[in-house]
Amino acid sequence: MIFLKSESEIDKMREAALLVSRTLGEVSKVLEPGIETGKLDRIAEEYIVKNNARPAFKGYGSKSNPFPGSLCISINEEVVHGIPGNRVLKEGDIVSIDCGVEKDGFFGDHAYTFIAGECDDKTKKLLQVTLDSLYKGIDQAIHGNKIGDIGHAVQTYCEKEGFGVVRDLVGHGIGKDMHEDPSVPNYGKPGKGERLRTGMGLAIEPMITEGDWKVKTLSDGWTIITADGTNAAHFEHDIIVREGKAEILSSFDYISELTKNKNLVTHYG
Ligand code: MG
Ligand code: MG
Repeated sequence: MIFLKSESEIDKMREAALLVSRTLGEVSKVLEPGIETGKLDRIAEEYIVKNNARPAFKGYGSKSNPFPGSLCISINEEVVHGIPGNRVLKEGDIVSIDCGVEKDGFFGDHAYTFIAGECDDKTKKLLQVTLDSLYKGIDQAIHGNKIGDIGHAVQTYCEKEGFGVVRDLVGHGIGKDMHEDPSVPNYGKPGKGERLRTGMGLAIEPMITEGDWKVKTLSDGWTIITADGTNAAHFEHDIIVREGKAEILSSFDYISELTKNKNLVTHYG
């Protein structure tokens, strides 16, 4: 069931989304080769709690194998849902960080892919194309369009650039729950699927690979990796469908302001 949000509900969703944005900014201050992923997770959790919110990923999932972190940190061939721990970032690592919070009864869920230190041009292109595809998807998230228009925009752009589009994991509705209807695939046909309406809250999140789109799950029950071992990137924004132009609730501006990393990819235009 799809819940259309009122403006007062959207105000709360914006607060939650921007807390995630600010948390990613805090993490970006210290993200560099030599740091443990578990340290990044502790920084995020402390910041979220200090801001009167709850880390939404921590404890998510089944009782037998709840997600243990406040961040998903997925490195290189890991696509999403990587578990923070004692792994130390190395020069050139591709570090996708996804964060979720619940604040005042509403959820924020967004993600950015960083480079630890320097990277080659091939990697930079993977990140740039993935980021740009996110905005191409968002451009389609307007009243009267269909869900398939979003996925089609992401897919055609990424595939034209020679990358793979993960099928097994998709974006989603967001609001009072972290994952609401509808599903928002990063592939699809124009004019197909659910009609988009003003007030729909969506998390749009392309997961893009340098190789094939197929993925598999590691024995920890969480970490998703590319089946062919090629690298992947992941960017995610929370948006509200509106007439003419979607409103982006989350922001990468805090990352740009706070990071010392000169290798951030930025969306122009
Ligand atoms: Mg996410
Ligand atoms: Mg999500």
